[in-house]
Amino acid sequence: MTFDLTPEQDQLRDAVRALGRRYGHSYFVEKARAGEHTTELWAEAGRLGYLGVNIPTEYGGGGGGITELAIVCEELAAAGCPLLLLVVSPAIAATVLSRHGTEEQRKRHLPGLADGSQKIVFAITEPEAGSNFHRLGTVARRDGDGWLLNGRKCYISGVDEAGHVLVVARTEDSSTGKLKPALFLVPTDAVGLTRSKLDMEIVSPENQFLLYLDDVRVPADALLGESLDAGLPALFAGLNPERITVAAMGAGTGRYAIERASEYTATRKVWGGRSIGSHQGVSHPLAHAAVQVELARLMIQKAATLYDAGRDLEAGVAGNMAKYAAGEAAALAVDTAVQVLGGAGMTTEYGVATLLGAVRAGRIAPVSREMILNFVAQHVLGQDKSY
Ligand SMILES: Cc1cc2nc3c(=O)[nH]c(=O)nc-3n(C[C@H](O)[C@H](O)[C@H](O)COP(=O)(O)OP(=O)(O)OC[C@H]3O[C@@H](n4cnc5c(N)ncnc54)[C@H](O)[C@@H]3O)c2cc1C
Repeated sequence: MTFDLTPEQDQLRDAVRALGRRYGHSYFVEKARAGEHTTELWAEAGRLGYLGVNIPTEYGGGGGGITELAIVCEELAAAGCPLLLLVVSPAIAATVLSRHGTEEQRKRHLPGLADGSQKIVFAITEPEAGSNFHRLGTVARRDGDGWLLNGRKCYISGVDEAGHVLVVARTEDSSTGKLKPALFLVPTDAVGLTRSKLDMEIVSPENQFLLYLDDVRVPADALLGESLDAGLPALFAGLNPERITVAAMGAGTGRYAIERASEYTATRKVWGGRSIGSHQGVSHPLAHAAVQVELARLMIQKAATLYDAGRDLEAGVAGNMAKYAAGEAAALAVDTAVQVLGGAGMTTEYGVATLLGAVRAGRIAPVSREMILNFVAQHVLGQDKSY
């Protein structure tokens, strides 16, 4: 057993950290407040190969795994730039395409995802179905040699920045007549696809949207994979990378908040010559948060290692646990940082309260803490399903 990164992973971590620090949290917040995107950071990360680390080399990627992508997510977040679209485009879309796309789809989409010139976002959540994906109501019907899509999606991140949306719909199984999931690569400018921006209480340069699909016609090759049977495995293929990278983003955000807070409490003096960090009422909550973040990092490393070794079922358990742990740790770390900074904690200048909304959302999306506890209760502890 080793807890060390390889020399190449170490180099990647240092290089991504340096890139993230060059931009920093103030860049992230300025972009968010201006209603703009982190275009420069994304483009530079793409040019340097960080967005494609997990994409096979024959499609322009780095040929690494989710371990490498998790390093990218964590280090950018640790520099104050938690980019949610890393979870959506390189983690979910690129994995689904690499593992289940047709050769033609891989050739068409992966090089652009690898160099950052293209983004593909992911649309599964629906207003009626919520956490219950069995109730998905977006339906794809055959229309000549193509498909006609109808339905509604909500909270879909980054539609305004992406060339395509990977839409999870349902099609009729010709053998059983039952509806089964299928994924479609829908251009964001497709006729019949409209969107409205949701106002979210999150300081972020990335936006969420309601999507309306009204008779959206797509050609046959928009269906992801060789046949309708690719749908279910493709959907599952995206889940572990999603959980592991969103956990890494949470751990990085936690590290960022603790670092900002520790710098402050080590130097701020209000009672004689002693720093406020010398008071255990201040230092213990910070130390407690640091322990939680470090434990989450350990679980992320385990989940990514299992996933990259092809042990998908074990990675599923570890990835869910990592996502849970990191979501809780990030929320604790940011809240604690705000508290120990006192009034400064609520200012924009000190750059921690700006993360309150994001870490709160991290306990809800992309899978809520309750649904993870349900998963662990049923699949690890053998409890009956209550729903
Ligand atoms: C910032 C942000 C970005 C997002 N980006 C995307 C995206 O890009 N693409 C996309 O498809 N979706 C996206 N989502 C949606 C996200 O995945 C969902 O919000 C999440 O899955 C929860 O679904 P819901 O909001 O419908 O909650 P609901 O299902 O309505 O649940 C409400 C509450 O009830 C709890 N609950 C529900 N069922 C159970 C149960 N059986 N047992 C115990 N508790 C339960 C939930 O945990 C939650 O606390 C995003 C959401 C946010 C906030």
